[in-house]
Amino acid sequence: MTAGLRRRERGRLSNYGNRGETMGKNIVLLGPPGAGKGTQGQRLAEKLDEPHIASGDIFRQLRGQDTPLAQKVKGYMERGEYVPDDLTIRVVLERLSQPDARQGFILDGFPRTEPQAQALDNSGRSVDVALYINAPVDVLVERISRRYTCPKCHAIYEASRRSPKKEMTCDVCGAPLERRADDAPEVVRPRLQTYLDKTRPLVDYYERLGTLVEIDGAQTIEVVEREVDRALRLPAG
Ligand code: AMP
Repeated sequence: MTAGLRRRERGRLSNYGNRGETMGKNIVLLGPPGAGKGTQGQRLAEKLDEPHIASGDIFRQLRGQDTPLAQKVKGYMERGEYVPDDLTIRVVLERLSQPDARQGFILDGFPRTEPQAQALDNSGRSVDVALYINAPVDVLVERISRRYTCPKCHAIYEASRRSPKKEMTCDVCGAPLERRADDAPEVVRPRLQTYLDKTRPLVDYYERLGTLVEIDGAQTIEVVEREVDRALRLPAG
């Protein structure tokens, strides 16, 4: 076991095999903004043939609609605040009820609060593995300042570390890349603080359940990916 991948307790992941190794896995990606959850989530989705469900992507789509609800969601996101639990739980559970998520899912950015985690448990879609990808604050701030995303297919890029082949153009779908409004420096700090106040406690929540695996997200994308694969017992490749 490397220093980057720590299982905090003996016996952890005892729930992991309960649904059978070959069946779909219910995976939650936990960690601060900029830790690499989206990048790893997209890679895992391909390998496991499960949907990568990012609550932030769902809200970014919702925000584009011309409704009073969309205006409200936009306000929370622009301020770097969390969307209220009742609405968040409703939209994510609705997404999980779609046929493609029946066998398993990779949730990215949900749950972010204890009520959300409890709602997921109570929905009967309990979590097999909570992958906690963490990195120091200066690394997160630096990465976010260089991050670009595709508004169409949600691919993620980072200047110098993961640049697109053609400048400001998505390699996957060709759409022009954008910077997220909430990645602006003045919004990043409050977002990190909200994460520490409201989401960090979920590390203890999943640790108590024995499903937490911590991975050092400050490493290269490839090393993190290898450790994620190892944590999920996926074949090396
Ligand atoms: P993300 O792309 O995961 O960084 O999410 C972008 C924004 O969407 C967050 O800053 C929140 O405003 C909102 N959001 C996404 N997921 C959640 C969640 N689980 N609970 C509350 N708000 C969320």
